Amino acid sequence: MTPNLLAHRATQLTPSLTLAIDAKAKKLKADGVDVCGFGAGEPDAETPEHIKQAAITALQAGMTKYTPSSGTPELRAAIAEKLRVENGVEYKPSQIIVNCGAKHSCYNAILATCQPGDEVIIPAPYWLSYPEMVKLAGATPVIVPTDEATGFKIRPDQFRDAMTPATKMIILNSPNNPTGSVYTREELLALAEVALEEDILILSDEIYEKITYDGAVTTSIAALSPDIYRLTITVNGFSKAYSMTGWRLGYVAAPEPIAQAIDSIQSHSTSNPTSFAQAGALAALKGDQSFIRQMVQTFAERRAYMFDRLSAMPGISCVKPMGAFYMLPNISRLGLTSTDFCTRLLDEQKVAAVPGIAFGSDAYIRLSYACSMDNIKKGMDRLEAFCRSLTS
Ligand SMILES: *Cc1c(COP(=O)(O)O)cnc(C)c1O
Repeated sequence: MTPNLLAHRATQLTPSLTLAIDAKAKKLKADGVDVCGFGAGEPDAETPEHIKQAAITALQAGMTKYTPSSGTPELRAAIAEKLRVENGVEYKPSQIIVNCGAKHSCYNAILATCQPGDEVIIPAPYWLSYPEMVKLAGATPVIVPTDEATGFKIRPDQFRDAMTPATKMIILNSPNNPTGSVYTREELLALAEVALEEDILILSDEIYEKITYDGAVTTSIAALSPDIYRLTITVNGFSKAYSMTGWRLGYVAAPEPIAQAIDSIQSHSTSNPTSFAQAGALAALKGDQSFIRQMVQTFAERRAYMFDRLSAMPGISCVKPMGAFYMLPNISRLGLTSTDFCTRLLDEQKVAAVPGIAFGSDAYIRLSYACSMDNIKKGMDRLEAFCRSLTS
């Protein structure tokens, strides 16, 4: 295809670096090779039965037509109630827009607020879609590197140093994918105060809020003060907490004008998220929450084992993640780029991991523990053998 058939925005996107390794791992598996996969970006549990049943019941009852583009009134009311009770933040149902996944929520929020000439501050390591979404909106991502010294958290002075008159937004993701870091209330308050100095929007991606360890407490930035609320777009969803990644449901909660703009964009692009999936999400919010506790308990056991194993490996150092379900060991002392490391790890030991460069930080690899303990045990043995082969 000749390149001029494509829009500039499409040619600006970074092709997914993880795709090549993922494709190779899938091919090896298909060929019957025993591959240990650590690439999973979704919980390995099934969606709870009562949630599935609610969607089946809705489908059978004829919930097969368009809903309002912003989502059903029942679901928006239930989300408003959830945010009030659990997060201590007041939104009217009209301020809540249900989207086709929290990824779509982030994208719509960025499209509604950012344009050419705007800069968006993104701490690295970052979730790989944020910079691409900013570019799709015609705005410019400004990446601020963080590292182990601050637990991968951006400091207020780093935020201020990255600010220019063009800064429109900062994207915060706590608990974080891929670092597992969880910002404290005080840390968020300090960052929000910097945002307030120049009225910078805060996109707060809280999709992992339910998945934390060792008593780590999550805070919704919008709950910190009325001034901060005015600048915050809260994003959350169902994919991670209820293991509903395939259902494609997320939501934004925002000041009224931003919520309305997001609804307008959605009404002219995707329209409503799937009708009967919304019935499932309503059951998720209203039903028994014990599933989450069990899932997090399972993650906690894998995390403990994996952290101990990684910490004992030659050349590797690792910060203990406080949330989400990823480890981000530092592999830089082993002398390979993250891409070379992951390519050779797959070739030589049949272990699939994601190179940190995909998240903007080449010193790391990401290992998901949303996989079986057997996979983890075998994979850690192989990774250890690989690290030994590099150090001996
Ligand atoms: C998984 C994930 C999302 C959203 O997932 P959806 O499946 O689109 O709901 C958003 N942000 C981060 C950081 C994620 O890891």
